[in-house]
Parts: sequence; C-alpha cells; structure tokens
Amino acid sequence: MAENAARYVDVILPLDTPPLTFLLPDVWVGQVEIGSRVLVPLGKSKFYTGIVLRVHNRKPEVKRLREVSEVTDSVPVVTSEQLQLWLWMADYYLCSPGLVMRAALPAALKPDGFSRDEALQGDYRALRIPYVKLHARIVTEADLEAALDSLGRARARLRAVMEYLEAARPAGMAEDAPGAFDPAGLKAVPRRRISASGPVLKALIEREILDLFWKEPPREEMASSLAVLPQLSAAQTQALEELRVGLVEKPVALLQGVTGSGKTEIYIHLIAEALKKGGNVLYLLPEIALTTQLIERMQAYFGSAVVVYHSRLSDRRRAEVYRRLLDAPGGQLVMGVRSSVLLPVSALSLVVIDEEHENSFKQSDNAPRYHARDTAIVLASLYGAKTILGSATPSLESYLNACSGKYVRVTLTERYSGVSLPKVLVSDTLRAARRGEKRSHFNTLLLERIGEALDAGKQVMLFQNRRGFSPYVECGSCGWTAGCPQCNVTLTYHKAEGLLRCHYCGYQMAVPELCPSCSAADLQPKGFGTEKIEEALQEIFPEAVVDRLDADTARTARGYARIIAAFEQGRTDILVGTQMITKGFDFGRVSLVGILNADNLLNYPDFRAGERAFQLMMQVGGRAGRRQEQGTVVIQTSQSSHPVIEQVRRGDYEAMAASQLAERRAFLYPPYCRLIALTLRHRDKALLWRAAALFGTECRTVFGARLLGPEAPPVDRVRGQFLVRFLLKIEKQRSVVRAKTLLRQQIERLHARPEFRYIDVIPDVDPQ
Ligand code: ADP
Ligand code: ZN
Ligand code: ZN
Repeated sequence: MAENAARYVDVILPLDTPPLTFLLPDVWVGQVEIGSRVLVPLGKSKFYTGIVLRVHNRKPEVKRLREVSEVTDSVPVVTSEQLQLWLWMADYYLCSPGLVMRAALPAALKPDGFSRDEALQGDYRALRIPYVKLHARIVTEADLEAALDSLGRARARLRAVMEYLEAARPAGMAEDAPGAFDPAGLKAVPRRRISASGPVLKALIEREILDLFWKEPPREEMASSLAVLPQLSAAQTQALEELRVGLVEKPVALLQGVTGSGKTEIYIHLIAEALKKGGNVLYLLPEIALTTQLIERMQAYFGSAVVVYHSRLSDRRRAEVYRRLLDAPGGQLVMGVRSSVLLPVSALSLVVIDEEHENSFKQSDNAPRYHARDTAIVLASLYGAKTILGSATPSLESYLNACSGKYVRVTLTERYSGVSLPKVLVSDTLRAARRGEKRSHFNTLLLERIGEALDAGKQVMLFQNRRGFSPYVECGSCGWTAGCPQCNVTLTYHKAEGLLRCHYCGYQMAVPELCPSCSAADLQPKGFGTEKIEEALQEIFPEAVVDRLDADTARTARGYARIIAAFEQGRTDILVGTQMITKGFDFGRVSLVGILNADNLLNYPDFRAGERAFQLMMQVGGRAGRRQEQGTVVIQTSQSSHPVIEQVRRGDYEAMAASQLAERRAFLYPPYCRLIALTLRHRDKALLWRAAALFGTECRTVFGARLLGPEAPPVDRVRGQFLVRFLLKIEKQRSVVRAKTLLRQQIERLHARPEFRYIDVIPDVDPQ
C-alpha cells in the first residue's frame, strides 16, 4: 500500500453533529470514495451508518481516533450533486448536514444498532429473488440427455426440468431448432416460473441437475412506445411554445393557469420530450394521497417509467426506489411529495412543481426545515435542468419573480372545456342571522342551492377548515373548557368516538359526564368542525348521502380511497371536508361548492392570511362546474365587504396580488425581505423567558430593529414545552449569508452559558 494513501474519512452521520473523522482500516484503503456508505462506532456502544464526505490524509487532532467498522457500499450511494445539495441545504436552512442526510436516506439505508451486527442486519442491500438454472456440471447436450435419463420415471421431477428447459430456451428459438437446448445457451429462470414443489426442486438440486441462486430481478423495461400524447387546444399549444422558447434563456418558468385550464397536459408534453432525450424528470406534488387520479393519468402515458415516492411506502420499498434511481441512467419520471427532492435523480433535465403555492412543500416541524420548491430550483441548477412552477394562484414570491422577468411567465386564462369559472355568491352570515335566514350553520341561500343541486342530480362539496365535531367543549354553568394537559390549546370534540383530542400532540380523553370543575352535567360543544357539519346536513337532507373527507376519515390510504371512489362514482351526494377536498380533484358532476366559514381564513394571524385565503377559496371553488355547465360557489362570511372576498368573487388574482404586495412592501414582509423565525423551547417557563430576554438583548446589538420579539406564539406550550418566538427580517439588498453567520454566533453564545445550555433554539428560514 502506498505510504501516502488517504487513510482518513470525514463522515456525515444522521445526527445533529458536524461531519466526524474516522480512520480507514488497511483493508479498505483505496476502496472508499465520496458518497460511499460506511458503518462507524460512536459513543460507548452505538453504530451508525454514515456517508463519506471527504477522503484525505490529514490526521485529525483528537485523542482517540476510531476506525470505520464496515464499508457497506463502496460505490457511492449519494451523487456528487446530491452532496452539494445537502451542504447547500444545511447552510441555507441553518442545520447540520447530518440532519439533511437523515431526511434524505430511507431508513433501510441508514441502519444503526448497539453492535456492528445489529446495525448490519437492518441494512437493505437490494431486492433479490430465487432463480433456477442448470447445474454447472451439465455442459453439453449429451450431459443434459444423460441427466434426464437418470430421472427414470420420476414424473414430477421430469416435469420440473422440462418446465425449466421450456422457460430457459433462448428467446425466439423454436423448440425443435438445433441447439435450442444447448446448455450453454440456457439462461437462469426465476423460481416462480416453475411450478414444481419445494421437495421436487430440492431433489433435483441434490442430484446436481438444477441449481438455485439469488439475484436481483432485472428492472422492468420502460414502455417502449409512449401512448399518444393529448392533443392540445390552441391556447395550450401557445403556452407550451412560450414555455419552450422562454426556457432556452431562463432556468425557471411560472405557468399560471386557471383551474381546469389543462396545465397537466402541458406538463405531459414537456415530460415526454425530456424523457425521450434520456433525461430524468422530477414531478413534485403537494400531497400524494390526494393525487392518485393524477398518478394514474401519468402512468397511462409513461407506464413503468413512473416512479412514485411518498411516506406511505414501506421502508423496504423506499430503499428499493432509492437504489433503483441511483443506477437508472435516465428516462424516469419521479413523482412524489417534498422529500422526493432528496432522491438521487441523476441526469435531471426537468422539474415540475405542481400547485407550487402550497405550503406543504415547506417542512416546518423538523429539521431540515426546507422548502421543496426552492430546494428543487437549486437542484435543477446543479444539473442545468429547467423548472416549471404551476399554479392557478401562484405564491406571491413566484409571482413577483415572474413579473420582474427573473422567471418566464406564461398564463392560461380559460378552462380547457370552455366552461366559465364558477359564479361566486357571497352570503353574509350576520345579516342572515338578523333576518332569521339561517338554520344550523347554513344560510338559507346555501341550503336552497344545495337543494337545487341535489334535485338536478348534481353533487355538492362543502369546505370547512376544521376537523372534529367542535373545536372545544364548555361547561354551561361555570364556563370551564377542556384543555390539553401538555399544550396550551383546547381539546377538539370528536363525537363519533366520544373523545376529546389535542390536534397538536395527539393527547385524548373520554368526554367527562360531569364538569370536572363544578360537577354540573352541562358540557356543550362550541363552534363547529367537519363532523358537525356532516351531522347537521344529514338532518336537513335526510335523503342525501353525505360523506366526509378529513384527516380523521382518511387516516388510512384505503379509507381515503373509498371516500374518493364513492364520490367519483356518484354514490355520495355531498362531500364535506377540510383542505383535503381542495386539491387537484377533477370530478365531473360537482355543480356547487360551499365555503362555510371564510372568516376563519381571513382572520388568521399571519401576514400571509390574505394570500392564503384567496388561494384556498379559489382552489375549492375551482372544483365546481368543471366539465359541462358553469358551477356556483357560495361563500359564507360575516365580512362580506372584505377586499379578499371581493377579489375571490371576481376571480381577480392580479388585484389580490397588487393589494397584498403593496402591504408587504409597506410593512416589509416577503417577498420584499427574508425572514428567519427563531423558536426557543424549554420545559421551564421562567428559565426560557430569561434566556429569551438575554438572547433578544444580545441579538439586537447586531441586528438592531431587524429583530422582533421575544413573543409568546398563539399556542405557547406544546408537548409540555414552552415556546418563545423571534422574527428576524433581512432586507433584500443585505447579505443573508452574513446574517446567518451572525445568528449562528448568537446561538452559540447563548448555549455557552451553562444555565441556558439546554434551551432549544430552532431556526426556521423562510417560514411559511
Ligand atoms: P389544471 O391542472 O390546469 O387544473 P387539468 O390538467 O386537470 O387542469 O385539466 C382539466 C380537465 O380538462 C381534465 O379533465 C383534463 O383531462 C381536461 N383536459 C385538459 N386539457 C386537455 C387536452 N388537451 N385534451 C383532453 N383533455 C384535456
Ligand atoms: Zn362547570
Ligand atoms: Zn396536546
């Protein structure tokens, strides 16, 4: 071995630590490269899987340098572009590369354990299946004949060998062609192609006629001829052309098309072109469970080139997909949720981000707190690939980038079917109550429309953005409300299960019979959620079939599929639901959409409330009247003259954007500045607020008025931990990189004080 061979590896571990250096034992020197997978010991008795970031010969200055205990993959399992992306994400989103790795690698590719063997046991290599082939001692046709003769009258064995020979014969060669059964030309055959029982096969193996071995099955061939692509309308053709031309110069395009304008068909054409040239395509969706329709459509066009990736796949399946992509040369269409941006999609040539304004593209609850849209744009740039952002109601960030000329901007203003966008009726809840035109939670106007739709054999969708029966229960005699013992929120009442449940931590309890505070038997549900709406509707329309789609009823993929299928096939008349019903559905018979409590959306305490409310209402509304005749949307609100309601009524995105952008500019909010939210967290409230006070004071010496806070968030205790928030606003023209460096220093300074060492500081860059 060469004296100066690189013997040290810096390894990224799936933990909140910087990469650590390990020594490579002699046997592996020269066998490891950037992106290799290794198993290393850490702490007293743990083993972790890590990814090699550097191989070098600079001896680190540590007391005890530990050795790599196994090289689990010497061929890299992470591409160099992926590694670059990890480092970018760690830097941009203020976390360790290890936490990015943890999110990127499927569990089965990053096993850990308390011993080397335990860890290796959990490792996923590749899917292998049993194959049967002729035993190696049989080399000529004469050998084969002798072997068959030796079986005598053992019919089952004979049949098994014949079955094998039949299946193993070279493709296209007739049974009686000379050499059809030349052992040299016989291939291995998957075990399942031979009907013989286990004992029969075993006997043949013992007699050295057949042999069994395990290997990876060949990859399914991609459908060689793609189905005929959809014929585009004139408007779609023009949009496609504008995208093609625009994307020659610029890397990103925004396709803004009203709901039902057929953006998907345009993507299909661009995807087909990219695949045909041998590139890979990444297609990001806000949520997979909600897009089975879309995936089926894509499979109809692109067959087995479609690779689907989401959290409902098993660990094994995810590892399989990951490995398959790793050695796929190209021609794959990867469809998935935000985490798919972390897959090894090499030779990337196109990224499509559908419903780009959806905030589920942002991971908010765990590090890395990344935005998949923004990350995908960075990934695309590493490959020189193009990105298409599609939406009927783009995020103001993307809209501004399109208007300023940074992105290509293409618009589609008509639905493909030619049917006009739905008519929007605003129904004032206060006025209705005054005039007695109200029943339960519905204004008469909405009830009349529902009745008409049902009479005409149409379907109705009703949107209510709260699940459960009621958001809280209150004692009628003393005013007590049930709260979560772990979080500072009320417990939501779920009537069907008779439970009170916390939507933050999952805590649940049975509804008490008597008030725990005054012992009165007078607990009343207050406010309303989807479950209550469903019940009330059923009372008013006893003949109608009412169903509900929310996180409770769609907990399993099957439950979800059942609800959708029933609605699609017209077995359900009215579908009540949360956000879930707003996504990409394309149902033909929906003529009416009701939005029950728009006030909730408008009054949400966030600078994006106006934008979000508009997007959501337009998206729910877009489910109405998609194919034949114009649909109707009824919005119930107590703020009927609210500008956003007016903008929704006119379907005027531009007006919404203009007014919201003016406010954002005036008060300095994105897209005119960047935000970093910081949450400090600890069980001890007093300690937390002391830390926050100090942190605030020290940060202000560097950031001045750019730092807002400390402030208690609306829910200031979750899972037993108290929360304090800060917000850092960085003007567009100032360096974010510099700000982040300063921020890191401030966090380190706080943690350097022994009493505040265990205060969690959670940065969220570009919070949503
Ligand atoms: P969007 O994603 O813009 O809301 P979709 O792509 O879902 O719209 O299209 C809306 C409806 O119009 C779908 O039923 C779709 O199949 C149909 N459609 C759109 N474009 C075409 C086309 N070129 N040929 C056939 N059907 C189309
Ligand atoms: Zn009471
Ligand atoms: Zn809770």
